[in-house]
Amino acid sequence: MTTQFVFAPAAQMILPIAGQTAKYPVRRVYCVGRNYAEHAKEMGFTGREDPFFFTKPADALVPVTADHWGEIPYPSQTSNFHYEMELVVALGSGGKDLTVEQAAKCIYGYAAGLDMTRRDLQAECKKQGRPWEVGKAFDFSGPIGPIYPAAAVQDIAHATISLEVNGQVKQNSTIASLIWSVPESIAFLSGLFELKAGDLIFTGTPEGVGAVVTGDTMVGRISGLADLQVRVV
Ligand code: MN
Repeated sequence: MTTQFVFAPAAQMILPIAGQTAKYPVRRVYCVGRNYAEHAKEMGFTGREDPFFFTKPADALVPVTADHWGEIPYPSQTSNFHYEMELVVALGSGGKDLTVEQAAKCIYGYAAGLDMTRRDLQAECKKQGRPWEVGKAFDFSGPIGPIYPAAAVQDIAHATISLEVNGQVKQNSTIASLIWSVPESIAFLSGLFELKAGDLIFTGTPEGVGAVVTGDTMVGRISGLADLQVRVV
């Protein structure tokens, strides 16, 4: 018998996969905090802390196809809306208490993503010892490009990662500068949550974070993936 609902269930968040018609259904969205030493320092830390995690709701993602401009609204309640350009890893399987070797085998692919942040609200959360959701998990806070299957991406561990705002380079680093590598981050996270196919992990942003305002354009680049083009409206 077909299940009846009192209202229509929310739509499943799905992402396109480069070079395929099949889609990637998103389950959860995890994010790693302060995973590049120079970014940790610019946020007032030493850059040697263990990884820590927060989440965004899956429906905060904004899928942006290659060669198109995605649009995100300038969010409410902030006057310091920050970009954080990040490599996103997409899992094709999961588990708990994974070794680094097992974690590497869970990777389905990679995408370019922006962990957009209401920095003033996040700073207030930190000061008050409150959770970060209002700073990190708001609507439209996760623009993300298509997923590239891992087999189609050459040497992601040494890819370059950069972000231009209005044509000016603001962030410029390499994935090799991650404090915790992608498999290490997955392994750590799997000790806290059972990971499953469909889980995404934003792996952290390099130094150079800053604010954008309405009308600004952002172009995120990770070598081997399509540019992520986003406009603030
Ligand atoms: Mn981030």
